[in-house]
Amino acid sequence: MSLYLGIDIGGTNTELGIVDDEGRIVSSQTLSTKQHGGVFADYIDALSQQIALLIANPALTDQVVGIGIGAPNANYFSGCIEEAVNLPWVGSTPIVAELSARTGLPVILDNDANASALGEHSYGVARGLDHFVEITLGTGVGSGIYADGRLIRGYQGKAGELGHIAVGEQEEKCGCGRYGCLEASVAAPAVARRAVKLKKLCIEQGMWSALCDIPDEELTSKCVAEVALTTGDSLARQVFEETGEILGRALAQFACFSAPQAFVLFGGVAQCGDLLLAPVRSAFDKALLHIYRGSIEILLSSLPMGQAAVLGAASLARERYKQDEQ
Ligand SMILES: [Zn+2]
Repeated sequence: MSLYLGIDIGGTNTELGIVDDEGRIVSSQTLSTKQHGGVFADYIDALSQQIALLIANPALTDQVVGIGIGAPNANYFSGCIEEAVNLPWVGSTPIVAELSARTGLPVILDNDANASALGEHSYGVARGLDHFVEITLGTGVGSGIYADGRLIRGYQGKAGELGHIAVGEQEEKCGCGRYGCLEASVAAPAVARRAVKLKKLCIEQGMWSALCDIPDEELTSKCVAEVALTTGDSLARQVFEETGEILGRALAQFACFSAPQAFVLFGGVAQCGDLLLAPVRSAFDKALLHIYRGSIEILLSSLPMGQAAVLGAASLARERYKQDEQ
């Protein structure tokens, strides 16, 4: 049996997990990403030690065939993490070269959205699909495009920034500095902003909603979803109806790029299930070009939120190993 070491590097923690072909995490560890004072060499030392400890288990030593790393701003082609604003290192960090030299194992790096899509293909709801697009709805909107049986990485590994296509509300400014990006209309902060806006309108019109009892700063995407799901509050539901409508129309546009079999929604905002999915599907069906009708599913990720990043990272190593085997 082959095993793959998945490493997900986040702003706060680095999660490590040894994963089998069925997507079971057989051993795991967590390492602080921040505690090394922003010195990359010290971080790599600590990471190498953790890997050695994980792999030292005699039952695993010979079975781990590769390491996959998912990280923000990671470049598959250069093997470097480049100018990631949420990570403590400045400039370009050659993590693939450093880790493969220390472990003697093949190391594959990619950005977290691509790793997430590949994880879905290896272990999740996209298993067996040759054409799908994974959309991650969290504090931003990430995407991984899988087409014709492989991940589309593009020139310099920069393909798949669907969150920054201007199919959202045109007046909303995005973190990238431009207006109208999908991310600025459907990521978690946009859902929270929509809730605050609708609540204000509700109060102005002398109406009442359960959202009126919650201070603006506590109206997160998660909180609004809980209110909608537990009380059925119509204003809380409207927040997700408006969000889902924008996302559904956007997915209908994206369908024209690569004619996928499915869009897979993942991330915190997608956790509320049908509350978002129903309006997404409805808007998608209305906006979709007729030649695609009936051929594209919209699915929710089947990977557990807490494990998806490590599974995605491990799938990078798994994909490379399977390619080399052929
Ligand atoms: Zn943008």
